Amino acid sequence: MRAPQFHPSASTGLPARVTIYEVGARDGLQNERTVVPAATKAEFIRRLIAAGLTTVETTSFVNPAWVPQLADAAEVLAVLGPEGTARNRPVLVPNERGLDRALASRVQAIAIFGSATETFAQRNLGRSIAESVEMFRPVVDRAKGAGLWVRAYVSMCFGDPWEGDVPIAQVVDAARRLMDLGCDELSLGDTIGVATTGQVRDLLDALDTAGMPRGQVAVHFHDTYGQALANTLAALSDGVTIVDSSAGGLGGCPYAKSATGNLATEDLVWALHGAGVQTGVDLEALVRTSAWMAGQLGRPAASRVVTALAADLDAEIKPEPPR
Ligand code: MG
Repeated sequence: MRAPQFHPSASTGLPARVTIYEVGARDGLQNERTVVPAATKAEFIRRLIAAGLTTVETTSFVNPAWVPQLADAAEVLAVLGPEGTARNRPVLVPNERGLDRALASRVQAIAIFGSATETFAQRNLGRSIAESVEMFRPVVDRAKGAGLWVRAYVSMCFGDPWEGDVPIAQVVDAARRLMDLGCDELSLGDTIGVATTGQVRDLLDALDTAGMPRGQVAVHFHDTYGQALANTLAALSDGVTIVDSSAGGLGGCPYAKSATGNLATEDLVWALHGAGVQTGVDLEALVRTSAWMAGQLGRPAASRVVTALAADLDAEIKPEPPR
């Protein structure tokens, strides 16, 4: 299978090593129409870990009525056993009820999810930004009290479908309120995929000034306008070292009008390995995993790199007949 040409350059300003926060099993599968059985989800997560992904978000303890795709969260974790509940296997938790379920499954890390805009807070959480912070407060208090690691997602950091542009000061304020609860890591979500590179650097600067340095910030880009990888590389050359991405680009069907696919982990790994940045990921094992999952979902993977390299794998398995 072809590998990216190794061509490191000091002038890119990229870090020597990047931590990939893999979201395919949660953010990816929760946005797919096809509901995957728990055993298949567990197999997917095992294969992601085996491919070298150290941080894998496994599932979500939101109300199953909201996200039926992940209603089997406890079952998936039970199938995985201790491998699924290590400290680098966070689960999404919206409220104390979700935390109770997560604790019953013995998780050691959770992620809460706030919004940078009032409209999305109302639509996604059914309450204002201030009210949602109060909903998260006891969740984070209890999680930290139990020794858990806690991540805070902020959605709509670079634009909102109802409110349009989102002022940087508003994003910083929303992030500050969540981090003040005691969270360990902040993930900046470009939920509708409209960010461009200058905006990314300006937000990172503003967060740093407000006491949220790049060392505790992760970036989460969507590829709606084809900018996810460019924005990610801009953040990495600006001092960020943690990137959210989704194996195969899961989460957002390429044929749907509302497609807002996650950055594909394979596309990210191809770019980083070519630039001499270590990720610890075995690209071929990851491509095989995403090609397999695409088969489970009955559609091609959204990742360009999976599309290109899976063709290589097919050719290895089924050589062309001699003419
Ligand atoms: Mg996403």
